[in-house]
This record gives sequence, C-alpha cells and structure tokens, in this order.
Amino acid sequence: MIKLEEKTPLVFTIADRCKTCYTCIRECPAKAISMQNGQANVIAERCIGCGNCVKVCTRKAKDFINDETEVLGMLASDTDCIACIAPAFPAEFKEISDYRIIVGMLKKLGFKKVVEVSFGADLVAEKYRDLINKSGNNLKFISSDCPAIVSYVTKYHPHLTQNLAPVISPLMAIVKVIREMYGENNKVIFIGPCIAKKNESSAPDNVLTFKELRSLFERKSINPEDVIPEDFDPPQSGRGAVFPVSRGIINTINIQENLIQGNLIVAEGRENFKEAITEFDTGLINDHNLELLCCEGCIMGPGMFTEGKRFENKAYVTRYVREKLDNINWDEWNKNMNTFSHIDLSRTFVPDDCRVKVPTRKEIEEIYIGMGKTEKKDRLDCHACGYKSCEDHAIAVLRGLAEIDMCLPYTLEKLKSMVTELNSKNKKLETVHQALKQSEKLAHLGQLSAGIAHEINNPLGVVIMYANILLDEVNTDNEYYEDLKLISEQAMRCKNIVSGLLNFARKNKISSNYVNTITFLNSCLRAVIIPPEIKVQVNDYLKNPEISIDEEQMTQALTNILKNAVEAMPDGGLLTVSASNENNELVINISDTGSGILEEHMDKLFTPFFTTKSIGKGTGLGLPTTYGIIKMHKGKINVTSNADPGKGETGTTFTIRLPQFNEINNEQAK
Ligand code: ADP
Ligand code: MG
Repeated sequence: MIKLEEKTPLVFTIADRCKTCYTCIRECPAKAISMQNGQANVIAERCIGCGNCVKVCTRKAKDFINDETEVLGMLASDTDCIACIAPAFPAEFKEISDYRIIVGMLKKLGFKKVVEVSFGADLVAEKYRDLINKSGNNLKFISSDCPAIVSYVTKYHPHLTQNLAPVISPLMAIVKVIREMYGENNKVIFIGPCIAKKNESSAPDNVLTFKELRSLFERKSINPEDVIPEDFDPPQSGRGAVFPVSRGIINTINIQENLIQGNLIVAEGRENFKEAITEFDTGLINDHNLELLCCEGCIMGPGMFTEGKRFENKAYVTRYVREKLDNINWDEWNKNMNTFSHIDLSRTFVPDDCRVKVPTRKEIEEIYIGMGKTEKKDRLDCHACGYKSCEDHAIAVLRGLAEIDMCLPYTLEKLKSMVTELNSKNKKLETVHQALKQSEKLAHLGQLSAGIAHEINNPLGVVIMYANILLDEVNTDNEYYEDLKLISEQAMRCKNIVSGLLNFARKNKISSNYVNTITFLNSCLRAVIIPPEIKVQVNDYLKNPEISIDEEQMTQALTNILKNAVEAMPDGGLLTVSASNENNELVINISDTGSGILEEHMDKLFTPFFTTKSIGKGTGLGLPTTYGIIKMHKGKINVTSNADPGKGETGTTFTIRLPQFNEINNEQAK
C-alpha cells in the first residue's frame, strides 16, 4: 500500500488509451492533471485521490494503484487477516440480497474476521458531538472524515488546516477497536468505495476498493452460491452505518439531535465542496460548520465496481440500515461504546501548501498573445480546454500544467491556416512539378534538335555556297537562273530553321553588353510591324534599367513574342509591355488582349514546330527559339493565358525574368 510520505500518484494514465479529450482536466477539482505532449498525467503532489478522473474517463485511460496481489500475499501468510468493510457495501453488492453471503465470501477468501467500519463511525460521531458542544460558536469545523477533502484543504487552503475537525476517520477508529479486540498481530484490510483511503493513513495494513475485491473473488472463483452465510464479527454498529447516505457524520448527528441548529452547511460533489471551502475561506460562511464529501456521498465512490444511480444506491444502503436497526441489540452496542470510549480519537493535520504563485497580468497577457487571443472578444471562456475560463487556462499554461494547443478555437484556427498553407504549397508543388516535366521534355527535344541541326548545318552550308556560286556565274536570263535562285532561297530558309533549332537547344553563344531596358524594348517594338488598330503601351516601373544581355539574340526572342501577340489580335487590341525590378531580377511582361491560348496547348508552346497557324504562316519555332535564348541568359519564361471569354477578358501574358546583378558570362549557358 502507498503511504502518505511516498509521492507515487494514486491514479495514473494508461498512455495508449488517453486520447486528449481533456475531460479529466475539466473534472479534476485539484487541477492535478497536466497535459504534456498530448498526454494527461497526474501530478502526485497535487492529487487529492478523489478518483473523479477515473470515473469520468470514458476510455478507461485512468487507473489507480492495485493492491490485490499484496493482499493475496497477506491472506496466504500465517498472520490472521481481518477485513473491515465500508458501510456503502449494500450499494456495491446489489445482486446479493443477504449481507451474510458477502461475509461468507470474504471468509472464504481467507479473512479470519469481517467487521463493519460503521462502529468506528458511531465512536467518531460521539467525538464530533463533544467537539461541537465544547467549541460553542468560536471555531467552526470542516469535517475530516473524507480523506480527499482533508487533502484538498491542507494543499489548497493550508491556513484552513486548523479548521479541520481534529478527529480521526471512522476507518481509523475501527482499526483501533479491532487492534484492541483482536490483538495487535493481525493484518487489518479496509474494503470500500474510496481510492483516497489508500493514502489516508497507515492505520489499516492495506486498502482494497470494491472493484479490487470483486476481482479477487473472480480470481479465486468465489461465488455467492458456494458460501455459508455468516454474520459480521463484533463490534456491532449502530446508526453510524447510515453516514454514507445521510450526507456525512455531523449531519447524521444533526438530523438525530438537531444539534447544530442551522449553522451546518453540507456540500457534496467536486464543484460544491470547492465552492463551500472558497466561501468559507473568504469569510462568507465562516460562521457555519462544513460537512463536505468529495464524491456524492461515499455510495458513488470511484472504487465502486457497479456504477448504479445515486438514489438507487442510497435506497440499497438505507434498506440495509433499517433492517439492521430493527434487529440491533442496543444493550450490547451501549456496552461496546462504553468499552471503547477511552480510545483516543484525536488527530492533527499538517498544512501541505501546493498553491502556485498567481502569475502577473503581463505574464497572462503574453500567453493570450501566444493563443491568438489579442482582444477581449477572442476570449470565449468555452471550457473546451478543460478550464473554466481562458484566464484559468493561461494560468495553467504558465504553471506548466497545460498546453496552448488545448484551446479549441485556437487549434481550429491554426488547423484552418495550416490547411490553406498546405493547399497553396500543394498548388505550388504541382506547378513546379509541371514545369520540371516540361523542362525535362524540352531538354530531351533540345538534344535531338541539336543533333539534327548539327548534321544538317554542314551539308546545307555546301548547298547554299554552291547555289550562290552558280547564281553568280549565270546571267539573269539564263534558263537555270530562277531554279538556282529558288534552291538558294529555300536552302536559306532551312538555315534559318536550323539556326532556330540551335537557339532552342542553346547551342549558340551569347555576347552580352549593358543596355537600357526601355530603349531596348522600344527598339524591339520598332522591329515588329504593328497595325494601327493595335494600341501599344509601355510601362516603365524600373528602378534600375541597366541590363546585361546579348542584344541581337534577345531582340529575336522578344520580337518572336511580340509578333505572336500581334498575330493573336487580328481585329486589334492592346499590347502592353511592362518592365520592373524584383529581387535582383528584371521582369518583362508582354500582354495582349488577343484570342488567348487553349488550356491543352499550354504545355506544347515551347516545343519546336508546334503551331496553330496555317502552313506558310507559322513555323512553330518562334517560342522554342525564345525559350533557348532566355535560358542562355540564365533567365526564366512563363506564360499565363485565358482563351475562354466566359472566364473574363481573353489574352495572354508572357513573363520574362532575367538575372540583373549576376554577371552573365559570354560563355555558353549550361
Ligand atoms: P508560330 O508563331 O510560328 O506558330 P510560335 O512558337 O511563335 O510559333 O508559337 C507557337 C504557338 O503558340 C502559336 O502557333 C500560337 O498557337 C501560340 N501562341 C503563341 N503566342 C501566342 C499569343 N500571344 N496568343 C495566342 N497564341 C499564341
Ligand atoms: Mg511565332
């Protein structure tokens, strides 16, 4: 059994089952559960052992220390074991109508004696009566029979420790009685609905919950039908048996004797007891005695196996007590009360301050900023994090008990922006992927084109040279003159095509000079025949107009684009040429308001010989040549277009980006 001084948590988390729902954090009256890396962990120092977290966790991710094996060891030893059973047992064993069967089962398990704790409650009730009578109206008491309440007061209201009734619990009292009646050498094992009893005192030798007892019955195959019913061993209890259903000990006496006359406040359950203590602490009700129970009476303890409803449980205990009191031998009871009246029932408590420093406003505000709650309206106090308010959550974060991510609105907001970011990254990735595929394709085509161009270039040179020599040698009226002229012209056409292919394949060299961008763009525009129905606009957004380029080749590249733009606007339109600087790059945009490019043509534009123009009009070498030249300048070329009037104005924009401050070598670009 875990003793008080050891700081092993009574309750712990089964990591695999914990699914970050924050229910335990919400339900923990001592705020003794911290959230770290998505796991809810019980902090031993702060835990009061109420077991609320065990009760509320739907995934059964919270469990408590199990003493079954240790108790089995005790039962197997030579020392006699005595069971003392809590008065809530009729609510636990509802299926067993005769309490004597339970006694029989415990005996079969190996207990020599089975005693009810209730006689301890009878003794303790007397002590409370004395205490309240003697203290008159001076010091008001907080009942100390619930170990979780005692723990809560000493830890979180340590200055109220003096108000804890200096009386031992009914369990501690019965253990003293048992030791006197049956000798010191027995092992006394308490069995009840309460987890906190495992930590209350070292009076009993061990503590089992009803859950553990049921498990032991199962492990040892002890069934109700196989046992001989037996009565409880003495001492027989009186009205004390009723205290789990009559809202505590003081209240039990009070109901019977109207002792306290209106200055007793009874509070049960994790919210109510806290509120009562806080109000007592702040002086609102400090002229009242407090009877506090952490669970809703011991009949709803976390160590119960059968969950049952509160009033149903109450009914079972009440029925049992009524029957018991009908048959009680009061003479014997009085005799026992006298016999054990000398037992020292006093107890002292020590404060165990577990309060943590209240953070400053500034510290809290900083946490709010981290949660994206910069304005008051952002603090929803929605409770989703397990705390009552955003402020409580922020304080818990500062104390290292909680994480910012526990805030649901904040996490949802974060998730939303992450999804948006992911989508845009995906889109970018897709574009890059497409561009990569395209450039790979073009690189392959480039290699092929370069090979062909290279092979054709030499014989073509020979054809052109001999055709020209022959042309020089014949007169214009010679019958072969026109044929030779045709050979020369067509061969020259082939040469242009080959040169285009070499450009595309980047097999030409560039020789760069610094030029003024706007002057250069105007000269390109002059090189293209632009009909009057097309308006031209040049936008100069340049901060630095200087650019180092191979002027001749770049003129070819740009005029190809300009020509295409003009050809795309047979009925006129607007041709816009803009230049700007962006991140060490010169950006040239050439836009037209023409027909636009069909979606399915977009990835073919830079492929040699792709044309949508009629034979003789288009060669499909303009853009591949442009592409090669831009690449030779270590630049990039992009195109966006809309060919669907339903989606807005049609037109195309070519964007060229050239490195501006990088020295472009005269050597061939890689
Ligand atoms: P060509 O002009 O000889 O057809 P290009 O390589 O210059 O070859 O152009 C390839 C194709 O790209 C063109 O046939 C045309 O379909 C399309 N294209 C290029 N620029 C534009 C533009 N500004 N507007 C519409 N289509 C264009
Ligand atoms: Mg063209």
